[in-house]
Amino acid sequence: MKQINNLIHTTASENGSPTRLQAVGDWMRDHRGFIQAIQWAVIIFYLALVITPAFLPLPKAYAHFYENLVLFAQFLFWGIWWPFVMLSMILFGRLWCGVFCPEGALSEWASRHGRGGAIPRWMRWSGWPFTAFVLTTLYGQLISVYEYPKAALLILGGSTVAAMVVGFLYGRGKRVWCRHLCPASGVFSLLARLAPVHFRVDRETWRQAPRRTPAVDCAPLINIADMTGNSACHMCGRCSEHREAVALSVRSPNREILSLSAETANRWDALLLIFGLLGVATGAFQWSASPWFVQLKQGLADWLIEHDVYWPLGDGAPWWVLTHYPETNDVFTWLDGALILFYIGATTLIIGGAFMLALRLAGWLLGQRELPWRLAYALTPLAGSSVFLGLSALTVSMLKAERLALPWVPQLRIALLAAGLLWSGWLLWRMLAKTPDEGATLTRRTFAWAALMGPAGLVAGSWIG
Ligand code: SF4
Repeated sequence: MKQINNLIHTTASENGSPTRLQAVGDWMRDHRGFIQAIQWAVIIFYLALVITPAFLPLPKAYAHFYENLVLFAQFLFWGIWWPFVMLSMILFGRLWCGVFCPEGALSEWASRHGRGGAIPRWMRWSGWPFTAFVLTTLYGQLISVYEYPKAALLILGGSTVAAMVVGFLYGRGKRVWCRHLCPASGVFSLLARLAPVHFRVDRETWRQAPRRTPAVDCAPLINIADMTGNSACHMCGRCSEHREAVALSVRSPNREILSLSAETANRWDALLLIFGLLGVATGAFQWSASPWFVQLKQGLADWLIEHDVYWPLGDGAPWWVLTHYPETNDVFTWLDGALILFYIGATTLIIGGAFMLALRLAGWLLGQRELPWRLAYALTPLAGSSVFLGLSALTVSMLKAERLALPWVPQLRIALLAAGLLWSGWLLWRMLAKTPDEGATLTRRTFAWAALMGPAGLVAGSWIG
């Protein structure tokens, strides 16, 4: 506790000298070469792990992940990389994007050597992060991206190639891909709002800076003078101390969400939270273990056979359309593919629809005509814990396959889920307390809170049930 106090205290230097955190930001600014060396090292490691396993035979059932490259890459990508990148967003903001992400670094590199074209209008559509996340998640489930290296190469490698092509065509040394099209960027920008560190911009100092200064080479194209939060910032450090107004600082993890207004809240962010992270992702993580899915599939298969309709039971689709690995007895039929989409779609409609109804009800209770999109941001901690649980399930199952006893895991998972739910509930209550409409009485606010926490409880319950 004393150390945390020291850290917070040292971000508010009293004698004008840089605080410890500021010094970290300045160090990042002054050591671009070191950061680029990290990025190239990650790129080489990433390319080796994403390309090589796709050309190796699938592992035998008894193989260990530490002695088989295919399993090792699977464990690293999906068991460690994804869950902990998500967690890092909540702890450090988008540091992963600015310092470690191989795709962002390659896109920026391609942009430095590319055509330098203007960003087309269609690319600026703010619905891309939502659309790209949903499509990538669905496609990943159909071809079993977590299990098979060819599928991982297609999705991860395809995304990297697309990032480089976009970088080559548009922007001058910028990360146009990350800013507008990356399927993960919407999720990262939501989770980074909870980070307790950020590059704080002192607008007054910026405005009063006496000299003209060269523009900062901000790769994700941020207007730094107006930056108020973490959502787009890649934490690369290049703007640290610019005009003596930018400094790496600590803050309350709640501040960015609590300071949202109706004007600054974004409808696509809210949709990504309630339909994407809480809907599509929940369905994608849960369908394979759902007894309803199995019953529905069995019932439909019986019905089809009784009626002499056999084509939906065919399994001739190539592996890049539907999972197709006869050597491991893992082959999806057309019926499987359709039911996966149906299950995820139904989960999304039930969860997302319940949140939309709750938002409508909350708006009505608060006397607002518009949907109060800003309240949806309170669900970010729950969405973060839900996605972490889903991704880390693979980590746990791979470790269990190695006969590691992990008796504390179920309790830890419930505790994580409860923490996410409580944090969201508390944020929502604080946001409702700040609702400007004076007609919103305590009773109405309480009902609005309960309306939104109902579906939130439904999501949490789906992980326990
Ligand atoms: S605002 Fe831009 S330059 Fe500054 S840390 Fe964030 S990404 Fe880097």
